[in-house]
Amino acid sequence: MSTQQHRTKAGFETRAIHAGYEPDAATGAVIPPIYATSTYKQDGVGGLRGGYEYSRSANPTRTALEGNIAALEEGERGFAFASGLAAEDTLVRALCRPGDHVVLPDDAYGGTFRLFDKVERVWGLAHSAAPVSDAEAVAAAIRPGETRLVWVETPTNPLLNIGDIEALAAVAHDAGALLVVDNTFASPYLQQPLTLGADVVVHSTTKYCGGHSDVVGGALVVKDLDLAEQVGFHQNSMGAVAGPFDAWLTLRGLKTLALRMERHCDNAERVVDFLTSHPAVGDVIYPGLETHPGHEVAQRQMRRFGGMVSFRVRGGEAQALAVCERAEIFTLGESLGGVESLIEHPGRMTHASVAGTELEVPADLVRLSVGIETADDLVADLERALG
Ligand SMILES: *Cc1c(COP(=O)(O)O)cnc(C)c1O
Repeated sequence: MSTQQHRTKAGFETRAIHAGYEPDAATGAVIPPIYATSTYKQDGVGGLRGGYEYSRSANPTRTALEGNIAALEEGERGFAFASGLAAEDTLVRALCRPGDHVVLPDDAYGGTFRLFDKVERVWGLAHSAAPVSDAEAVAAAIRPGETRLVWVETPTNPLLNIGDIEALAAVAHDAGALLVVDNTFASPYLQQPLTLGADVVVHSTTKYCGGHSDVVGGALVVKDLDLAEQVGFHQNSMGAVAGPFDAWLTLRGLKTLALRMERHCDNAERVVDFLTSHPAVGDVIYPGLETHPGHEVAQRQMRRFGGMVSFRVRGGEAQALAVCERAEIFTLGESLGGVESLIEHPGRMTHASVAGTELEVPADLVRLSVGIETADDLVADLERALG
């Protein structure tokens, strides 16, 4: 089966394991080698054997990852970067010019907000925030003729708000803007934004795609070949590429994405069941709950509801911090999407950089990245931590 057939015909799990790479012609190696090489011998000037000339421009291990993630997102081209933020910065330079404007989620990932607010703004790119759950509010935030990108996350971080990707694509396209979806929280297994009208998918592959908390990386996937051309030019010109070992680890992670996500979702549902009936817990925020305002949209556009759960602790910040510090299996740490469960206090940790802005998060909020350990152990750990 060719890579093209993997992309268009095979099921998700088959694509995850096979797309982007054919067993090596010379050795039959089933898994792509880590091509730790910066340059490639040419057979005569310009005589490239596999199209490779220098590893910033292209490297076979990275090519395998890029083909794989493009197939998983049902896009035409994928691009792998040194981090999620490197992918975001490259995308902005490729698609925006000084004087343009971008609409961001009002509860954007803190690092994304900082990139736009402290780095891209200095370069002349304006931004404003709107709730992704309200397509009309997003439409109202658009500045006709200036807004180049409508940038959304769904589910958002850490409040797990849901944006209706089809509706947001219509809003963006009506205004002549492009819709960018940061699909980090859902992963391509749970949601494929390009099939719902998005123009670009962004990933921090550090999270569910890599899935083992052992690599930092980012990716962009597009379906339009002109966009691909612009992104590819900037990837090479700016140089924030994924190295071959990082690309190899990420590709290894993607092969088991479907299995991992199913277990993340199973365990998250168990944890949500437990939290919703615990007296020390206030609101439990999970798109799988029927009481979640985005539940219906999530049900329509996602396969399941993911491994991220947020909740508010009765008693305020001090109690929330105590829960984070008492948990044991849930490791106190930033990041998410790995096989191990993590707990964190967004206000003091991942979202400290948005304190005092319109993106500030509640002080009694705790965020869980529910891992794939034994569900009973996770529930028992939270029971202890809640006291
Ligand atoms: C982590 C994260 C990023 C940034 O990715 P890095 O790999 O840390 O640079 C962007 N968006 C979301 C939703 C994230 O969780």
